[in-house]
Amino acid sequence: MVKYKVTVSRGLCISCGVAPAVCPEIFELGSDNGKSKVVDKYSVELTEDISVGIIPKELYECAKSGADSCPVSAITVEKIED
Ligand code: SF4
Repeated sequence: MVKYKVTVSRGLCISCGVAPAVCPEIFELGSDNGKSKVVDKYSVELTEDISVGIIPKELYECAKSGADSCPVSAITVEKIED
């Protein structure tokens, strides 16, 4: 099944809030340091510096819109097979 891996470089994130505004299904500002992260539902790794999530293909456009809107290019979305 095709899924997508979403990576947020929290070290780059300036907490502008655009990603959570554009795609709240996937992104939120963390209560730990205020940086963007993948919501718990899809999260597979979370540190102060990085957040990784695996999302279903239905949410690809949402994730991509968040990535494309990020002013510091902190979000990447890549296709994976499992
Ligand atoms: S759009 Fe980029 S800088 Fe803004 S909150 Fe999201 S990841 Fe952080």
